Amino acid sequence: MKVTVVGTGYVGLVTGACLADMGNHVMCLDVDARKIEILNSGGIPIHEPGLDEVVRRNAAAGRLQFTTDIPAAVSHGTIQFIAVGTPPDEDGSADLQYVLAAARNIGRLATDYKLVVDKSTVPVGTADKVKAAIADELARRGLDLAFSVASNPEFLKEGAAVEDFMRPDRIVVGAEDERAVNLMRALYAPFQRTRDKLVVMDLRSAELTKYAANAMLATRISFMNELALLAEKMGADIELVRQGIGSDPRIGYHFLYAGAGYGGSCFPKDVKALIRTAADQGQGLKVLQAVEDANDAQKRVLVDKVVARFGADLNGKRFAIWGLAFKPQTDDMREATSRVVIAELLARGATVSVYDPVAMDEARRIFGDEPRIAYASGPMQAAAGAEALLIVTEWKEFRSPDFEGLKAALKTPVIFDGRNLYEPALVREFGLDYEAIGRPAAV
Ligand code: NAD
Repeated sequence: MKVTVVGTGYVGLVTGACLADMGNHVMCLDVDARKIEILNSGGIPIHEPGLDEVVRRNAAAGRLQFTTDIPAAVSHGTIQFIAVGTPPDEDGSADLQYVLAAARNIGRLATDYKLVVDKSTVPVGTADKVKAAIADELARRGLDLAFSVASNPEFLKEGAAVEDFMRPDRIVVGAEDERAVNLMRALYAPFQRTRDKLVVMDLRSAELTKYAANAMLATRISFMNELALLAEKMGADIELVRQGIGSDPRIGYHFLYAGAGYGGSCFPKDVKALIRTAADQGQGLKVLQAVEDANDAQKRVLVDKVVARFGADLNGKRFAIWGLAFKPQTDDMREATSRVVIAELLARGATVSVYDPVAMDEARRIFGDEPRIAYASGPMQAAAGAEALLIVTEWKEFRSPDFEGLKAALKTPVIFDGRNLYEPALVREFGLDYEAIGRPAAV
């Protein structure tokens, strides 16, 4: 099949590459000429495990092309995926300008039937706006061209995006005509050989499904984070509580880890957008509002612990930070907890030495040449001479550190662990103080 993917970010590039890998001819369009240049010269603009190989293989086979040429991209695909960003507006609602710009381009330039598939995360009712935008442009041209609009929200996780796309749990398709459903069924057939994974529904339900999924996962995290704070006060251990409830199949183990708050490009923005959508309908989402408030507070929990130990004035103190990305296996720092932690430490007069296995360039891009941030070449280099260590992202390489070396490197031998990586008793055996999230203090 001939497919166009509009937007070559985390979702669009993975979608395009994986669809090409199944034999489709895919053209990826982006308005960011720099991204397209990198891709056309054999590079990858983002860090995503396994993606470079799939991209290279399919580009070499001539099945995957990258372009900034809008007319060529509209002309190429019978199926046109929209996978552009939908960042939060001032009021928390999703900004649809990029989605609607992509839709208008299709209406402005299409000369044959198109199935326009919304893959971006968009509020309920957006498919109607996409339809109207295309119809308007066609009407302007005096053209009566058949087209369909479908909603196909994406559930991939950054850090495991290729694997998730290749082996999805389910494929949600919102559509209102058979032609669209049949095309989607054919396109996704190679990804569901073991069982039928297509869940077909109306457009609005599909749009709401994506928000419901992210809101539910964020709720589990905030719920556990609040319980962790209580556990600390009560001398209970949230890790044991997690195991105790996760073993109940009605609850399950996923997304029950207490930590220093969720970040990323999806949970914070989608929780906000759903609250906004509900408010526009005159409905308050009280649970979700609390989820967001709890998370905002949780991102500051590590600094609260630092302040409790070192005082509010951190002048002249340098802290080591391990982990900048919002989660492991990605260089994405959108809404990352590290950004709040660093800002709060700097605001109290401290300096920081930071290390992340892949997000250092992204951090330099974000913080520029801020003189109070030192970029270390490795975790131990970050720790050397620092007052204390803060762990913000649970990268595998932080899981078994040289505790003796750490004790010698840090001025005050204390680890503030925002991801509960270690067994407290083990760390303390090395003579280090250990403050984690929801775990008992040293006795
Ligand atoms: P991204 O910011 O990485 O990529 C978006 C790309 O779209 C950018 O490269 C941008 O230049 C391009 N773009 C913007 N306007 C364009 C236009 N008119 N024509 C062509 N290209 C255009 O975003 P992302 O993380 O890939 O997310 C895309 C959408 O998918 C969002 O709605 C997001 O909520 C959703 N989503 C993201 C994830 C994730 O893990 N990142 C997972 C599921 C869903």
